[in-house]
Amino acid sequence: MAQCKGKTKKGDRCKRDAGDAAGFCTIHQDQEIRERSVRTGEWDADAIMKAVIGFAVVGVIILLRFRR
Ligand SMILES: [Zn+2]
Repeated sequence: MAQCKGKTKKGDRCKRDAGDAAGFCTIHQDQEIRERSVRTGEWDADAIMKAVIGFAVVGVIILLRFRR
């Protein structure tokens, strides 16, 4: 089995066996996913904000229609 591509807190190469095709052990696999979500965090927050505003507008329209 291949060695994990991740690094320990000390900066050393992780000595665990890579459990997935990407070449990371279970610990660093999670870390990689977290780092990826941090990198795209700004875009996600913007997209969520637009979605929230969109739903709010739709909600107000529905509310106004029901009141008539
Ligand atoms: Zn690792």
